[in-house]
Amino acid sequence: MIITEKKPLNEIFDMLSGAKNVVVLGCSGCASVCETGGEVQVNELCNKLSSYRKNAKGFVSVKGICRVSDTNEFLAGILRNLKVKVDAFVVLSCGSGVQVVSEIISDVDVFPGLNSKRCSSGVKNDIISEKCIGCGDCILHLTGGICPFTLCPKNKFNGPCGDAVQGRCKTLEIASGENINNINNINIDCVWSVIYKKLKERKKENLINKLFKLKPRNWSSMNAPQRRYL
Ligand code: SF4
Ligand code: SF4
Repeated sequence: MIITEKKPLNEIFDMLSGAKNVVVLGCSGCASVCETGGEVQVNELCNKLSSYRKNAKGFVSVKGICRVSDTNEFLAGILRNLKVKVDAFVVLSCGSGVQVVSEIISDVDVFPGLNSKRCSSGVKNDIISEKCIGCGDCILHLTGGICPFTLCPKNKFNGPCGDAVQGRCKTLEIASGENINNINNINIDCVWSVIYKKLKERKKENLINKLFKLKPRNWSSMNAPQRRYL
């Protein structure tokens, strides 16, 4: 189970500053149990957004939003029935669920509504890929929905190191002394290259500057043991 906490409202409003039509997605998995992403919390956030003159609609997945195939269907159903163009999705789930939505819907902003406090992973093509190390202060809204902490072998938060060659991360290869293609057939692109390409495609490269100007992180939010009191 992934422990999550609500992001401060002002952070969510800041992410949504240019968005009018917003869809809030809840997760009936761990976030419902934590009382951070169930129906009540989705309605609560929609009401708050509406009172700030946003058109907000909420939906809660029947299964955990980190389950790729179920979420594919869930989102297809929502998009089929919506009459307006969506400007942004706010996902009330762990960072893994936010990234699953962001991978499926790559041409609309997908923002995190919660902070994840413990590890999580998503499943795609029978492979479980770690997506979120539960840093407790989610920044996916600044990175095109891609987590640098989790996907960079050095957990680099402040831009790329010097190990990439033509966009490919060579860190694991250097560390193991083997060609990475021979190790579990893993192909790893430098996550910073992937983030930059995605932001550039969406003409949002300026978010990188915003990311680099963040206050130093409070790593104590990752300390164990974690407890979520209901
Ligand atoms: S920034 Fe990454 S590690 Fe932190 S909560 Fe978001 S997805 Fe998880
Ligand atoms: S090349 Fe990129 S992904 Fe690899 S360790 Fe350096 S910053 Fe991280």
